[in-house]
Amino acid sequence: KFLTFEGVDGCGKSTQMRFLSEYLQEKGLECVVTREPGGCRISEQVREILLDVENKGMEDMTEALLYAAARVQHIEEVILPAIRAGKLVLCDRYIDSSVAYQGYGRQLGAEAILRINQYAANHCMPDLTFFFDYKPAKAFQRMNPHKEMDRLEQEGEDFYDRVYKGFREIWKANPARVRRIDVSGTKFETRDRMRALIDEVLA
Ligand code: C5P
Repeated sequence: KFLTFEGVDGCGKSTQMRFLSEYLQEKGLECVVTREPGGCRISEQVREILLDVENKGMEDMTEALLYAAARVQHIEEVILPAIRAGKLVLCDRYIDSSVAYQGYGRQLGAEAILRINQYAANHCMPDLTFFFDYKPAKAFQRMNPHKEMDRLEQEGEDFYDRVYKGFREIWKANPARVRRIDVSGTKFETRDRMRALIDEVLA
């Protein structure tokens, strides 16, 4: 099975992925934990280009296609081999992030970004997606003020509002695949909600 974790920056998905992978491994399930952009050598190099603060002049479409390019490599080298080996794949961000960030955030259009990515990914879609429903204003607060911001994190609040709205649209349009996670409580409450949900899904 292929599971993805989506939401705006600072929503807590990385922490929850760690909790969930530990939980699944305790249950004896083999997991591959990976992330986008990145996850393998070529895609990590593309990630560097994407996040480099010096690359201010990057065209929105260049950005969108670089995400898709990194994804192709990641699917072939990491995701598909793991799925074929019967493992659970836990991926931090996937196509929904492209639709939310480049489609809605950069306003390239959700339809166009989805089409580009479905073509690039040869229609390899997750079985289940966790959408961490965290509003960007709060997400900004949660971000580490001491950590240097990457190129995307330097975007303003309007951009993140559009991205957040995009994730909600994706969730509403894909009720069977996308599960909304309420993250208004503590990280341990969220962890327990995730456990209940995954037990239900894997049962
Ligand atoms: O989730 P993570 O922090 O690894 O994401 C790296 C950066 O890439 C974030 O700033 C995120 O907003 C951005 N991103 C993006 N478009 C995507 C995927 C990630 O702008 N399709």
